[in-house]
Amino acid sequence: MKPISKIAKGIAPSATMAIDSLAKQMKADGIDVVSFGAGEPDFNTPDHIKQAGIRAIEENKTRYTPSHGLLTLREAVCDWMKEELGVSYKPSQIAVTSGAKHNVFIALQTICNPGDEVILPAPYWVTYAEAIRMAGAIPVIVETTEETGFKMTAKMLEDAVTDKTKCLILTNPSNPTGMVYGREELEALADVILRHDFYVLSDEIYCSLVYEGTFTSMAALSEEVKERTILINGASKSFAMTGWRIGYAAANDEIAKAMSNYLSHSTGSPCTISQYASMAALSKNQQPTHEMKEAFAERRNYFLKRIKEIPGVSCVEPEGAFYIFMNIKQQMGRTLYGVTVNSSEDFAKLLLEKGLVAVVPGSAFGAEGYLRWSYATSMETIKTGLDRLEKFLAEG
Ligand code: PMP
Ligand code: GLU
Repeated sequence: MKPISKIAKGIAPSATMAIDSLAKQMKADGIDVVSFGAGEPDFNTPDHIKQAGIRAIEENKTRYTPSHGLLTLREAVCDWMKEELGVSYKPSQIAVTSGAKHNVFIALQTICNPGDEVILPAPYWVTYAEAIRMAGAIPVIVETTEETGFKMTAKMLEDAVTDKTKCLILTNPSNPTGMVYGREELEALADVILRHDFYVLSDEIYCSLVYEGTFTSMAALSEEVKERTILINGASKSFAMTGWRIGYAAANDEIAKAMSNYLSHSTGSPCTISQYASMAALSKNQQPTHEMKEAFAERRNYFLKRIKEIPGVSCVEPEGAFYIFMNIKQQMGRTLYGVTVNSSEDFAKLLLEKGLVAVVPGSAFGAEGYLRWSYATSMETIKTGLDRLEKFLAEG
């Protein structure tokens, strides 16, 4: 048989999705596992959004839409971006997709030629490295550490630039670390981007979930920066709409048009019913999002308090999103339950088997010696999970 494509052969499955599926399967099998695997809000989609979806079905709004989304939804995205981020786009510059993950995929397909380099600061969200490879491009991974708050500095960016650099990927607030780049830090990076003239894919899907300080969008810095920015956002995290599969990107006219062309040949158009529901989500009623943010903030504070009390683990305080990136470097080389732990993967596997707690190893995000815990789960689950971690470390 002929071999499948070289690109396809090199693509690893998503670790976050795999751990989530494993934990869900264990629960279905009657095993009392608590899961911090996927970054998926535990809240139900707010009622007014669900009702808009139901109304769309009842009114037979069940046909194809333009490939980059309904004009009314793209207008709603523009209004929301203006209101929340202070950036102005035309509806023709918006591409609505079947989830922000698809947006990332299409954006990279649109801008990259084979062999182009895409700079990716680590720790990074799992999907990026693979999405870059799927576009035939090369991920140039730049490690950041706790010393810079897991943020890439202008110097680190400058050092990674070559004549093949096409794009920088910035996730702000970050998945997996929860770090948030402030205006000055963004300006320093933008200065390098403008000088060397490349794109920045700014994934701001967690922008509504910032607990310390204010949020600045990359595209809000200047017109020149905005022209080179592909802004990624979506309904999943801000509105507890993961299963509705709606993402939106904003970009300059040329990129937005090319993305729409790709969409017209791939998904055709995003789910019509979900588009009507998303219009309600993006309306003036942002109260449910504010309430969810308050609940996340409370969980974050609880997490931080407990981590300080557990010997042998620590974390840099996250400022946004809903993840704790736990430092477990002190556990490396330790023998727990008769097994020597040499990697975050060993630790996560053992914690799942013996402690019945599912977390994602840092290696999935390009950072060894860490575990990612999502706190988009109930306070009760968080308490149980941390009690189990404490017991696991003490008794192992
Ligand atoms: N970007 C980041 C940083 C994420 O964590 C996620 C989570 N799935 C996504 C994009 C994609 O979200 P979705 O496809 O559900 O819109
Ligand atoms: N983005 C979430 C996470 O990182 C959901 C799973 C995924 O899409 O990777 O866990």
